[in-house]
Amino acid sequence: MKSGRSGPAQDQEIRLASVLDDLDLPDPFKIEELLARVSKKRGRPIHLHTFPAITGDELPCGAWLATDKADHILVEDATSPLHRDHIVLHEVSHMLLGHTPRQTLGRAFHHLAPDLVTGVLGRTSYETEEERSAETLAGLIATRAAQRGNGDRTTPSTLRRLNAALSDS
Ligand SMILES: [Zn+2]
Repeated sequence: MKSGRSGPAQDQEIRLASVLDDLDLPDPFKIEELLARVSKKRGRPIHLHTFPAITGDELPCGAWLATDKADHILVEDATSPLHRDHIVLHEVSHMLLGHTPRQTLGRAFHHLAPDLVTGVLGRTSYETEEERSAETLAGLIATRAAQRGNGDRTTPSTLRRLNAALSDS
């Protein structure tokens, strides 16, 4: 018998929960360690880069860039460590959800060899379905990481703040 309550929203919730369950979260949580584990699972390196903030354009404050050999996460230099982790979790969520990087390369990325770049997903808004699900998953990861962090005396408050920042956005 089919439930009348199932639909796209419920499917999405189930999918996010399943991705979260498959995730081997570091305990205590460290964003670099999470990247290492996701990288191992994907069988390709993930590199974290910072780039200078440029004013005037509607530029993403974070991006996921995929080449033939590796994934690159780019974050703005000027952001706080907390904001940086938020962006990184968001971009990792795109990878975990199997989203496709898009060609929205701005001039901030010109220092990377353009011929190596097969796609980039800019984080400019949450308008699209993919943006919303990536942001939701980033929040779920932060929440679970905070729950796991109980054994560590310094991590939980950091993660609570991260989680609060994620809830605000
Ligand atoms: Zn995004």
